[in-house]
Amino acid sequence: MSSQPDRIILPQNVSPLHYKLQLEPYFDTFKFDGTVSIDLKVNDKESDFVELNTFELDIHEAKINDVKSLETVTDEENQTSRFKFPAGTLKDSDNVTIDIKFTGILNDTMAGFYRAKYIDNATGETKYMATTQMEPTDARRAFPCFDEPNLKASFEITLVSDPKLTHLSNMDVKKEEIFDGKKFTYFNPTPKMSTYLVAFIVAELEYVECKDFRIPVRVYATPGSEHLGQYAANLTAKTLSFFEKAFGIEYPLPKMDSVAVHEFSAGAMENWGLVTYRVVDLLLDEKNASLERIKRVAEVVQHELAHQWFGNLVTMDWWEGLWLNEGFATWMSWYACNQFQPEWKVWEQYVADDLQSALGLDSLRSSHPIEVPVKRADEINQIFDHISYAKGSSLLRMISQWLGEDVFVKGVSQYLNKFKFGNAKTEDLWDALSEASGKDVRNVMDIWTKKVGFPIVSVTEDGHKITFKQNRYLNTADVKPEEDKTLYPVFLSLKTNSGVDHSLTLDERELTVTVEDVDFIKTNANQAGIYVTSYSDDRWTTLSKQSDLLTVEDRTGLVADCKTLSLSGYTSTKNFLQLISQWKNEDSFVVWEQMINSLGSLKAAWAFEPKETLEALDEFTRQLVSEKTHSLGWEFSENESYASQRLKVEMFSSSAAAKDPVVVKAALKMFEKYTSGDSNAIPPLIKSSVFGTVARDGNAKNYEKLFAIYKNPSSSDEKLSALRCLGRFEDPALMKRTLGYLFDGTVLNQDIYIPMGGMRGHKEGIKTLWAWTKENWDALHKKFPPSLTMLGSILTVATSGFTSRQAIDEIEDFFKDKSTKGFDQSLAQTLDTITSKANWVDRDREVVVKFLKEHNYYK
Ligand SMILES: [Zn+2]
Repeated sequence: MSSQPDRIILPQNVSPLHYKLQLEPYFDTFKFDGTVSIDLKVNDKESDFVELNTFELDIHEAKINDVKSLETVTDEENQTSRFKFPAGTLKDSDNVTIDIKFTGILNDTMAGFYRAKYIDNATGETKYMATTQMEPTDARRAFPCFDEPNLKASFEITLVSDPKLTHLSNMDVKKEEIFDGKKFTYFNPTPKMSTYLVAFIVAELEYVECKDFRIPVRVYATPGSEHLGQYAANLTAKTLSFFEKAFGIEYPLPKMDSVAVHEFSAGAMENWGLVTYRVVDLLLDEKNASLERIKRVAEVVQHELAHQWFGNLVTMDWWEGLWLNEGFATWMSWYACNQFQPEWKVWEQYVADDLQSALGLDSLRSSHPIEVPVKRADEINQIFDHISYAKGSSLLRMISQWLGEDVFVKGVSQYLNKFKFGNAKTEDLWDALSEASGKDVRNVMDIWTKKVGFPIVSVTEDGHKITFKQNRYLNTADVKPEEDKTLYPVFLSLKTNSGVDHSLTLDERELTVTVEDVDFIKTNANQAGIYVTSYSDDRWTTLSKQSDLLTVEDRTGLVADCKTLSLSGYTSTKNFLQLISQWKNEDSFVVWEQMINSLGSLKAAWAFEPKETLEALDEFTRQLVSEKTHSLGWEFSENESYASQRLKVEMFSSSAAAKDPVVVKAALKMFEKYTSGDSNAIPPLIKSSVFGTVARDGNAKNYEKLFAIYKNPSSSDEKLSALRCLGRFEDPALMKRTLGYLFDGTVLNQDIYIPMGGMRGHKEGIKTLWAWTKENWDALHKKFPPSLTMLGSILTVATSGFTSRQAIDEIEDFFKDKSTKGFDQSLAQTLDTITSKANWVDRDREVVVKFLKEHNYYK
């Protein structure tokens, strides 16, 4: 390892040019044999060693031009091996080749070259795929390599196995031959690329194809489910051609394969030319899928394809640029969606989804700046979070609205052209955008990317004089002066009766302006900026009556802001309850989704309050949603608009969750018919909500039925819905049973957080889940090594349901003498989340009770 002041990296005496890699996985011993020859450029001829990254590899031999290495020093902690050669080995040439023979573990931790388990539907046999997940730093588990994103090289890969298995890699096949009863597949060399994008698969696979693009576009799956890949194949072809036009650069590889992988830790991975997916994020039965599922598949496919240019062709120089990779792919995915499916209104939904998750995490003290210094490679997994993806893309959305989407995409295209097949820094993109737009992008972006958090803008009015003041926002509302020094460049985008004033930027602490007509004012038009706005009580009341003057994004943003401000005490929770109770006639499914979600946050914070209060909150919800639900009904027709379908789904599920008796009865009846053999009894769009209602109803016989559906589902979508709902049963014996399935192989490792998530939805579940987690912590830690992101997610699901300070003490106590490496950030964020809920309930407990009593919601 060598140390630059800000990064720990490999020594630079040599650098890689070309890898020749051959691998043969064994499905009986779960090991693989490998040889790698790496052509190296010698930068320091006086040096006599080669050091590269290795992890859990058994090295048999290393040679340079037939000269064997004298010794190998493996550093487990830094995941490196240093091969020492006789003095003078590197002296005489500019290039040398190192040959290494090794054996690795075909592991079951979803990292490196690993085995993904599945059941063959035809035979019931347990089988395995050998597949890879290298990002961020697990290529070193698969072969010795220079595992840093800016050490790009070309790769020539050979796979060896039983001839009946399919071999795939980033490139197309150069030659295939059978030798000694084994199949050898030689792939063409890749262009220059980073190690984290290398991929290879050895498995039983079939494919479907779309021929609408100039190169082969295929979707692979284990036999029997490949037909479900047609939607993604068609979308892939269409998206590739759209991105080629948008970026003005041809997709550079000779084929594009997508593969559904049975055990997968993330949603998907953008390996160049060989994108791997979690099954549910790729395969789809279009007729029987929910709208969210179809949208999710589109989102993921388009996200991974955006990376083929942004990330793969041009790569971040080092891991602190990760956010730009992810933020951009997220933005670009919605940009494409909005072109292909304008009726989905994805940018409106963005305000309710991505923007809120960004603000949610960034309002915690334990948040981090978008661009964090990453010194060690193993710190990287913790920044694959909502800050990188959601705040990163929110920032790009803000900038794209400031510059105009076309100008933004033009700037991106210039950046991609300039750095293709190479690496770039964040600033390089800002410079390209400045050039394309003539605006000082770098200056604005620097503050937003390098500083943590976002501001609250307080609006105070004195007649026609309006003062805007910014401060750092925290959910815990206990900002210290030293945390409140950043002045963000805030685009105020003030909306009044005469339109939107885009000229106002608040980059000082305070700004006072005079406004002619103050009948209607709202900042942050269309919720393009990353901040929350606090108004006076009177202004909240006025705004709640002006919904006709507000766009969907505005209304969504107001609901979300008002809830956020209630949570932190900047406004009373009464204002929030009043605001949403005024909007019973709302027609947009996006605004409804936000109202229901925000109310859901309130209920989650109140989860441990007395039963009568929770029942009164349910009554409040019923009175809010029932009328609309009953007038819309829950029958769907094929030619109905997307918006109308989504609205019905939203209303039905919120009524069901609030125990509307008519809806609950209907749901139970549909389930009864469905499980008696009428496969059309439940409209697919509300199936998960029907399952949820059944689980909340608690009948143990229905647990058996849901479990049977999980074991033998009609689609992977249905399987996950059933799995989630197994966690919703409140009966202690059933909870115990569900938890038992997490470790006995019934639930795949990749899915264990799903039933856990169901359990977090109720008080008894929250307690039981935490008790189980404590008891099984060692096993969890072993199953999900801290270098993966999953351990942090599991910890969050297992603890974040709590709402009291006492729970915080317990959690802290449990971890006080344990290593929290790899999930310390998740832990800190969870504790902050619980603190803010505890503060909220303590502050507004009486306010909520009073409101509910005054409006007769108590029985
Ligand atoms: Zn991504």
